[in-house]
Amino acid sequence: MKPLDGLAWTNRFAALGPDFFTELPAQGLPDPHWVATSPACAELLGWPADWASRPEALAVFSGNGAWPGMQPLASVYSGHQFGVWAGQLGDGRALWLGEADTPSGPQEMQLKGAGRTPYSRRGDGRAVLRSSIREFLCSEAMAALGVPTTRALCITGSRLPVIRETVETAAVVTRVAPSLIRFGHFEHFAHHGQLQALRRLADFFIAHHAPECAEAPEPVVALLRKVALQTADLVAHWQAIGFCHGVMNTDNMSMLGLTLDYGPFGFMDAFDPGHVCNHSDDRGRYAYARQPAVAFWNLHALAQALLPLLPVGDDQEVQDSTDRLLEAVEAFRDRFAAQMLARLRAKLGLAGEDAGDQALADDLLRLMAASRADFTITFRRLSRALAEPEPLRDLFIDREALDAWLARWRPRTAPDAQARMLAVNPAVVLRNHLAEGAIRAAQQDDFTEIERLLKVLGRPFDEPENPGDAALPPDWAHSLEVSCSS
Ligand code: AMP
Ligand code: MG
Ligand code: MG
Repeated sequence: MKPLDGLAWTNRFAALGPDFFTELPAQGLPDPHWVATSPACAELLGWPADWASRPEALAVFSGNGAWPGMQPLASVYSGHQFGVWAGQLGDGRALWLGEADTPSGPQEMQLKGAGRTPYSRRGDGRAVLRSSIREFLCSEAMAALGVPTTRALCITGSRLPVIRETVETAAVVTRVAPSLIRFGHFEHFAHHGQLQALRRLADFFIAHHAPECAEAPEPVVALLRKVALQTADLVAHWQAIGFCHGVMNTDNMSMLGLTLDYGPFGFMDAFDPGHVCNHSDDRGRYAYARQPAVAFWNLHALAQALLPLLPVGDDQEVQDSTDRLLEAVEAFRDRFAAQMLARLRAKLGLAGEDAGDQALADDLLRLMAASRADFTITFRRLSRALAEPEPLRDLFIDREALDAWLARWRPRTAPDAQARMLAVNPAVVLRNHLAEGAIRAAQQDDFTEIERLLKVLGRPFDEPENPGDAALPPDWAHSLEVSCSS
């Protein structure tokens, strides 16, 4: 395989050694073809625009070959799933290729769906075309919205049948991120009493991904605090755009505060704080309004995993160090509240800050919930409501209540409110029915809708050329269900 010119691989994670992973080659897709590529992700990597037309590229990203310097491996992690300790999990169908040196710093690359690994348990190691398209489009859409996320470089496909609820076909999506280390990696070594490995992982992560923590009196506490703050920022961003992750298990929580593992996610259409996007989540653990509390819970699981790294002296010392870890997790609360309020102020186009702003935003959300108003469209129409209130009023059942709210809101708006609001309230998000349209076409070998949507989602704050991309979901979309099956 000829490498892309000048591409160098550092593979720092691979240097951690065999406690952390199993080296193994990918099991390639038979007779692969390209499904999609992301020019924005290639640009992030500093790759030439024609990278995918190089003959060896299709083999590499369908698991049929490797460039020199790549070091394929599957990592081991554990985690809490739906609030319960799930034991060892690990990269059951993901294969780490290595860490490419890029203008944006070292970026890890990972194939998802490239075959079984020692951590596959009962799984087949594959990913279906449907879920790969959802992950690809949403990763790139989130990046364009400014939400921290793993990126997606490309999808390759094959006729290889894969059994889920029905027979589907296999695909491989390539993920890119500065680090794919999860809370679950730390939980794994703590739970199994591998303290040396736990310490090495913490040192590794701090050295490469949180170097400022090394200067702190207690680097591990500083690290936990950093992760808590980043996670708060992330979840505030999710809440502000109506994004539901769907499976916020600790093994899906990124140590870098990135959106990680796109499965049964969903953008809310009709606003309902109790909205559950994952059809398999029958108790609603991961409902929209619970996401901040779940993130906070997950941070406690991480704190628990880091606890063995603090010194054990007398009882008092143990108590103090536990308190310091809990304090670091507690930092989540204030940061989340402040970030959420800042995002709501921006969404409402408010001038400066006023003590009543939280109540103003909460009251609008209550009216939206009562009318089941579409989350994205409401804020988009609100952005223009100073000049043109009728389209917004059309979304509400109790118009008098909305008018009363608008009368409170107007005097609080900034002079350039409309322009500011249009820059933070997206016109287009990846609603399930948009993804479904691209999936159905792709299942008939037509990949043009993926490419079209990728372009539209790349400019989410612009009015799309096709008004349907920003419109309410059609009636058929109400019967769409997304589950953990992927
Ligand atoms: P998820 O619910 O997507 O976070 O996945 C939970 C665990 O199941 C992870 O360890 C995955 O690697 C593994 N997994 C999910 N799907 C498959 C599959 N088709 N084959 C093997 N492992 C899988
Ligand atoms: Mg996962
Ligand atoms: Mg998953």
